[in-house]
Amino acid sequence: MNIISATYLISSPSVDKCPPADKPEYAFIGRSNVGKSSLINMLCDRQNLAKTSATPGKTQLINHFVIQSDPSAAGKKKNATISWYMTDLPGYGYAKVGQGQRASWKKMIEGYLRNRSNLVVVFVLIDVRHDPQAIDLAFIRQLGEWRVPFCIVFTKSDKENQRTVQMNKKQFLDTLSKDWEYLPPHFVTSAVKQRGRKEILTYIAECNESLQQLTP
Ligand code: GDP
Repeated sequence: MNIISATYLISSPSVDKCPPADKPEYAFIGRSNVGKSSLINMLCDRQNLAKTSATPGKTQLINHFVIQSDPSAAGKKKNATISWYMTDLPGYGYAKVGQGQRASWKKMIEGYLRNRSNLVVVFVLIDVRHDPQAIDLAFIRQLGEWRVPFCIVFTKSDKENQRTVQMNKKQFLDTLSKDWEYLPPHFVTSAVKQRGRKEILTYIAECNESLQQLTP
């Protein structure tokens, strides 16, 4: 898949204020500092599309970007340009956020994840340098209860040697296996080395393609 354009559209405080649900939508979420802005910028091949390190906890909004892409880069000439939403969701795990803000985050995220009809999949970002963290596992468990399809994106893989990356990835997936019969699709990425870009974009292109086939 070839990204033709990536444009910021709007930031919304709740699902009912989001733009019309008229395109396939892919959301990104993770704990604060996991590398979400860097990943979004890397995927779109833009420097500052998602603001890297916006003030933690302050930006409790759902940020929509419109992406125009060209699946013909994968050698399929018949496909025209297709447009879809990429959504940057406010993360969890900010140390300085109070009870009230945490509760409003939860309400907004639950409202969005359970009611956004065009949401195809949520990419949950996991910092590959750490052991499985309770907060990430709890969020994933919650996604399961809500029946929201998700993928795992391991971030910052350039910060560790590849043996450690593989070990931490395996440990995380092994932990998930205790709860899940099937493991979700997963990707190892580095925003610095552009690692995982092609794999994630190909996955999105495949999802878009199968949705098009469903449309009469
Ligand atoms: P966010 O809070 O989840 O949006 O995280 P950011 O994208 O702002 O990244 C947090 C910090 O991690 C920043 O200092 C980034 O430069 C750094 N970072 C993010 N992704 C990577 C990566 O793939 N490799 C390395 N080495 N640093 C990264």
